[in-house]
Amino acid sequence: MFSKILIANRGEIAARVIATARRMGIRTVAVFSDADAGARHVALADEAVRIGPAPVAESYLRGEAIIHAARRTGAEAIHPGYGFLSENAGFAEAVAAAGLVFIGPPAAAIRAMGLKDAARALMEQAGVPVVPGYHGADQDPEHLAAAAQAIGWPVLIKARAGGGGKGMRLVERPEDFRAALDSARREAEAAFGDPACLIERCIPRPRHIEIQIFADSHGNVTHLFERDCSLQRRHQKVIEEAPAPGMPEEIRAAMGRAAVGAARAIGYRGAGTVEFIADGSGPLREDGFWFIEMNTRLQVEHPVSEAITGLDFVELQLRVAAGEPLPFRQEDLRMNGHAIEARLCAEDVARGFLPATGTLRRLALPGDTGFARGAIRIDSGVRQGDAITPWYDPMIAKIIVHGASRAEALNRLAAALADCRVAGVTTNLEFLSALARHPGFRAGEVDTGLIARDLALLTARPALPAPVPALAALAALGLPRETAGADPWDRLTGWRAWGEAEEFVTLDNGGERLSFRVVHLGGGSFRVESGADACRLSVTRDGSGLRVTADGLRFAAETLVGSGRVLVWHDGFCHAFTLPDPLAMAETDAVGGKMGGGDSLIAPMPGLVSAVRTAPGAAVRKGDPLLVLEAMKMEHILTAPRDGIVADLLVAERDQVADGTLLLRLEAEDG
Ligand code: ADP
Repeated sequence: MFSKILIANRGEIAARVIATARRMGIRTVAVFSDADAGARHVALADEAVRIGPAPVAESYLRGEAIIHAARRTGAEAIHPGYGFLSENAGFAEAVAAAGLVFIGPPAAAIRAMGLKDAARALMEQAGVPVVPGYHGADQDPEHLAAAAQAIGWPVLIKARAGGGGKGMRLVERPEDFRAALDSARREAEAAFGDPACLIERCIPRPRHIEIQIFADSHGNVTHLFERDCSLQRRHQKVIEEAPAPGMPEEIRAAMGRAAVGAARAIGYRGAGTVEFIADGSGPLREDGFWFIEMNTRLQVEHPVSEAITGLDFVELQLRVAAGEPLPFRQEDLRMNGHAIEARLCAEDVARGFLPATGTLRRLALPGDTGFARGAIRIDSGVRQGDAITPWYDPMIAKIIVHGASRAEALNRLAAALADCRVAGVTTNLEFLSALARHPGFRAGEVDTGLIARDLALLTARPALPAPVPALAALAALGLPRETAGADPWDRLTGWRAWGEAEEFVTLDNGGERLSFRVVHLGGGSFRVESGADACRLSVTRDGSGLRVTADGLRFAAETLVGSGRVLVWHDGFCHAFTLPDPLAMAETDAVGGKMGGGDSLIAPMPGLVSAVRTAPGAAVRKGDPLLVLEAMKMEHILTAPRDGIVADLLVAERDQVADGTLLLRLEAEDG
């Protein structure tokens, strides 16, 4: 076994790998960019090496700098995590050439699965069911259109070099094919430098079911059951679970056999995932699942499989990489209970799930953050006080729950999400809570279209429960004051002569102005009046939270005040109020006016201008791509809001811009 390894990654996955290495007595080396000098993964490692500035191309993607760091520190092996260089065959080769061990599959296996067309061809040869489609070399649009016609509508166009849903288009009618192909190719060329596409039949009501496999260098290949990752938004996984709801034993065995066959066909070693799309329009069938791709690394969602198998996948990866045989055979493996993972991300659901940034003023997550398996496990790379920057993945934490049954796991998930406290950064927490309560999901009726179909329901906000505005008013006034005994308001005897002791505060909630009169009743009790409503509250502090009795009902809540905002966590929701500030409101109006004009391109989020596709004086048509903004590892193409001439181009390639920055101004064609 190795005595020291380097982790060529950041965030939660780096922290996750370090936790297992530490348990096994292996010393760890972290690498970090300038943006991550104070990051959790750096603090957890025994040693750390700076590898460059914040942009990933200048740090986490610099293979030679990472290999140099490993040699300098005497690490014997490199764990690539997921993302970054984990599926880069050239990096795997360079690691081996440097006399180090790559904790992953052989470079040839990575290469075999690197392009979707080659992988499909290989899987067909190996007898693995593949989605009916076309993956030939002839990229002539007429030929592809004819292929689509032969496959039958609707079809999916996929970039062969694709990943993360990029370069993928659904086409429902022949007349839309050409435009969709052109746009898929453009996106693929921009993202991967390779415009080649393949065509697949679009499976109705698709379910995404993937098989975890492990192979060693002694010829053992096993599967560790399946995960269902059907809850997706725009082809990105949101919630994953194991086992898949409604999975019959014989289909599990058939999918497992296909996945093991896929791994054997490419001489695989280590942890990998074979992804299938299954027809979810009825019960799962043996002839109703097809290979879509293989990920030659550990997956983000591996903890749900760890939870049901009781195994530590990073430990298995390390053992296999060190040449040890897998410590089990297929027949030794058993599933225990049900596990679900939810990805808590910094994103603004109301603004089309745009990535969000900021400093985590409050981050309190329930459960164990030490990567131990248990009823609630939290995998996270950040702590309270850390910043979510535009440079990297917006994931804050993975919340993994385990229960004896799916129903128990679901209840535990809903409860865990309700106990999460995050402030300072906009997150998808409430969206995840709504998903955990979604009746279709609870019934196991999952397919990849569920989120899009029910988006309105999943993003609806509850009406403000009665005690919430009252609690916000108390918080805004700093009530109840820290030590009840020392609170002068508690000793109200002298005040009675002038009537009731009272305070006033005004708050905004979702554009509505609320004015409160707070009457001190003594002993931590208050009457809060707002318009015609009145509510009697008794509040005591309990750690960082509050114990509240409101009109006879007792519950726990939490409040946080700062930066002109008041947050109230109550019953799984976080309600935000603002202290009205006339000056700040005037500024917002000015920006709103600029954006409303349709003459300007304004950065919708902080990011890096990765491409400028126009120049001052150029005539542009509405919808033309003008700038590409890279934020949170995703590319956002900013298009012309209308026809016009580019009057001012205010940014250049490689500029880092803040949210709301004016990037470009258009004027009408006639001047
Ligand atoms: P990427 O590599 O970009 O992630 P995948 O091929 O893995 O692309 O597909 C991503 C997602 O797209 C799948 O999880 C599934 O939701 C959907 N998808 C892929 N292929 C099909 C198909 N043939 N029919 C229906 N949905 C599909």
